[in-house]
Amino acid sequence: MFRSIRWRIAAAFAVVVVLCIIGLSLYLAQFVRNEHIDNLKVQLADQAWIIADSSTPHFADDQTADLQALAIRLGNLVSGRVTIIAGDGTVLGDSEEDPADMENHSGRPEVVRALSGEVGSSIRHSETLGRDMMYVAVPITANSAIVGAARVSLPLTAINQTIGHINRVIAVAAVIAAVLGIVAALQLTRVTVNPIKKLTQASRKMAEGDLAQEIQVTSRDEVGDLARAFNRMAQRVKETMALVTAERDKMAVILSHMGDAIFAVDAEGRVATVNTAAEKILQLSREDALGHTFIEVVRDYELDALLQRCLKSGEEQTGLVEIGAKRQLLGVIVTPFKGEPGCLMLIQDLTEMRKLETARRDFIANLSHELRTPIASLKALTETLREGAIDAPSVAGDFLDKMNTEADRLAQMAEELGELSRIESGEAPLRKESVEVSGAVARVTERLRAQADRAGLLLETQIEPGLPHIPADGDRLEQVLLNLMHNAIKFTPPGGKVSIMAKTDGQCLTISVADTGVGISPDDLPRVFERFYKADRARAGGGTGLGLAIAKHIVEAHQGRIWAESVEGKGSIFSFSLPLGS
Ligand code: ADP
Repeated sequence: MFRSIRWRIAAAFAVVVVLCIIGLSLYLAQFVRNEHIDNLKVQLADQAWIIADSSTPHFADDQTADLQALAIRLGNLVSGRVTIIAGDGTVLGDSEEDPADMENHSGRPEVVRALSGEVGSSIRHSETLGRDMMYVAVPITANSAIVGAARVSLPLTAINQTIGHINRVIAVAAVIAAVLGIVAALQLTRVTVNPIKKLTQASRKMAEGDLAQEIQVTSRDEVGDLARAFNRMAQRVKETMALVTAERDKMAVILSHMGDAIFAVDAEGRVATVNTAAEKILQLSREDALGHTFIEVVRDYELDALLQRCLKSGEEQTGLVEIGAKRQLLGVIVTPFKGEPGCLMLIQDLTEMRKLETARRDFIANLSHELRTPIASLKALTETLREGAIDAPSVAGDFLDKMNTEADRLAQMAEELGELSRIESGEAPLRKESVEVSGAVARVTERLRAQADRAGLLLETQIEPGLPHIPADGDRLEQVLLNLMHNAIKFTPPGGKVSIMAKTDGQCLTISVADTGVGISPDDLPRVFERFYKADRARAGGGTGLGLAIAKHIVEAHQGRIWAESVEGKGSIFSFSLPLGS
């Protein structure tokens, strides 16, 4: 209980109040007693003077034997006991005792003073009466000489009773004052301490993370000032936290949407932050990574070496690292934190870029190779013509036909390359319309029927009845069909069969072109959709190697999918599916 300020202040207040009241009571009791005794002294002295005056004639006439009767008479008139004493201390009269039995009073202090001409007084315990008494004596003068002393005495019981009563009143007042003091102190401290309690509660809640704290203040005192200062502080903390949280959220969004992997690592090399890209690129989970050392998480010594070098030297480290069986190429930058230990590691996955670079290089190599063949044959044909063949009209005509074919191939290649680049760059957007698939299939089949006949092939179509119209670019869709069927005819020996099938599963429309041709080896199969890729260069002589690449781009531009299945020597099936509602 006394650990609370409220009770400590109240207790101190009570102690001070009680001590003050006790001090005051003691003083008052003493003061009242003294006042009473002084008054009594004056009163008794007045009575003693009257007794002295009444006794004087008896001394003057030398009739001191009558003094006993006088003492008794006067004793009945005054409130106290009356004693008349001779100049030698002999008791001549006493209102309550027989003077003959009383000892000489010359030694009593009040009598000594009275015999010396002054008013004497004394308070002492009377053995005879067994209580405290007050004695006041005055001189009796006869014929200008002090002949004796008149004494009046009174028990102090009355005074003691009065003083006791006063003391009791003071004690009750003291108790009431102390209780009132304590109540006032408690009330005062409650008013003072309550806002402090509220402050403590609010601070505790803030420490627990609940920053929306405000204390209602009405008082204008120091505690009120403290509460207002607290409210201002809480408001600032809330604003600062909101700012920090907004910054942190922004940072989290940036980190999670970054394409590059980010690791924040502390001085011991333990992972403190990992972003989504890091999880994806390095195939790890944030939960497993956080708090573990970088090498435990990534398990690549080259990456860890870069990190360790940065941690040790405090300098930025960069490098290209190839990891894993898939030969992922990573560009790494490790930067030390400013002002605190640890490093930030940024990892870029350059695998795709390297693939693109390789594809670009392959494309240029393929292109120059593809160009070289017709150009070389054109050159050979012109040289042969110049060397004399031009003079043999039949040979020359044949040569010119061949030159024309080569020129057509070059033109076709230029045309297909242009088409491919237009589709890839999005320069030629799709012109979507509602396409009736069976009609498109029929048109393409008719265009190629003569070619199929010449090649000695059977051309058949299996179109599911009631196919829905699909949203597509009709011309491009026919181009895909044309490329697939053209290949099927080209790679199927005479006597074979080319079938076109179209069906739907309610979500997609799937068109397949199957042939009974030469087929494609499993090694070549995954690559046939690449630009310039020809599985069998000898047999594919006439083609550009661009037809399937164009088909793939067109299908993908329609959010569709294209794939090939094949068994070498038995035949191939090229299929593509398009969503019905794209
Ligand atoms: P090309 O102009 O050479 O036909 P494509 O891109 O259309 O170019 O085809 C690429 C290669 O895929 C062809 O050279 C061929 O080797 C193979 N190919 C395509 N279709 C078939 C098929 N139906 N049967 C066997 N091989 C095929």
